[in-house]
Amino acid sequence: MTKTYENIETKLIHAGEPRPPIGGAVSMPIFQSSTFEYAGQASYHDIKYIRLNNTPNHMALHRKLASLENAEEALVTSSGMAAISTTLLTVLSSGDHLLAQDCLYGGTHDLITKDFAAFDISFDFLGGDDPDSWKVKIRPNTRAIYVESMTNPLLQVADLKAVVEFAKAHGLISLIDNTFPSPINFRPAEWGFDLSLHSCTKYLNGHSDIVAGAIIGRADLIEKIRHKLNHLGGSLDPHACFLLHRGLKTLAVRVKHQNESALEIAKFLEDHPAIAKVNYPGLEGHPGHRRACELFDGFSGMLSFELKGGVDSAKRFMQKTTLPIIAPSLGGVETLITRPATTSHSGLSPGERQRLGISDGLIRTSVGLEATDDMIADFEQALRI
Ligand code: PLP
Repeated sequence: MTKTYENIETKLIHAGEPRPPIGGAVSMPIFQSSTFEYAGQASYHDIKYIRLNNTPNHMALHRKLASLENAEEALVTSSGMAAISTTLLTVLSSGDHLLAQDCLYGGTHDLITKDFAAFDISFDFLGGDDPDSWKVKIRPNTRAIYVESMTNPLLQVADLKAVVEFAKAHGLISLIDNTFPSPINFRPAEWGFDLSLHSCTKYLNGHSDIVAGAIIGRADLIEKIRHKLNHLGGSLDPHACFLLHRGLKTLAVRVKHQNESALEIAKFLEDHPAIAKVNYPGLEGHPGHRRACELFDGFSGMLSFELKGGVDSAKRFMQKTTLPIIAPSLGGVETLITRPATTSHSGLSPGERQRLGISDGLIRTSVGLEATDDMIADFEQALRI
């Protein structure tokens, strides 16, 4: 019988682990074998083969990830975008319509706006704050609604409870990208979402050394997505499975430090005379603060801010910092800073970025595991004129 665990810290260590341990190994071994001895499987999808995402490394991850979000099933993929694209292409078919939040990760935004037409899938964007405005956008062929638990890079928190109610009222599948909070801060299945999507490249692995993705949620939908993934081929390599599995063990201690450190850094920046604006849902003045307090167990390690001197001051600040690395991506042990206008959101037109409130001078920070005092001291010297 599979043992269940109460607390997420314990699940990270023990949930889904093979018992008894394989060969007595305390750490999950890597099954670097593309194929496995045939054992009478009746279905193609159950043959043991790396592309079919079902080696012992995959299966252990699936059990652990589902348990972290108190969901029925999980499936790992070769990247966050593989999770997102495979899921959307499973729940949507030719002629269908999608409702999506208007400030999404740039890659997802581009997939929807640039690639969907070729599949004859239409879409409409909606603001996350105004459920009354969503009804007019629904069509007879609308099948799903897609949001992010915290938007990238402005850290907006949509009315997520209303999203679930709206989806249920109109028979839509509710999808949420839960990369930013990670399961430590938010577990979508507990709030009624059908599927949660992750770039495991970020917090779940946490060490900036692999690209991976996951889909967590309803078993019936995951089964359909698994079959689609088997055809599209976005499976995760066993060695990357091993690294993700290892990274997951420390997720709780990492994210708790990142939550606390980001809040202190956000408060420091908010009080600094050279700063024009800080976006962090842990700050009382953030428009999503009350919602974040109700939904989340922590406000994440992500924040973004603008300097009063605009883009030139932003560039100078970034060059003067000594601890953060200037790089896209997020959720690792090292602090990363980036200007989304030049990286994650460079695929959007300048007009679209302006409409969404992503200025050229906006700096996004992924807070790492350095000492908070050292980070603040470094930001302080970099802000000196
Ligand atoms: N979702 C979010 C919120 C992201 O920030 C990213 C990548 O930056 C992705 C999805 C895509 O993930 P990956 O790079 O692992 O494909």
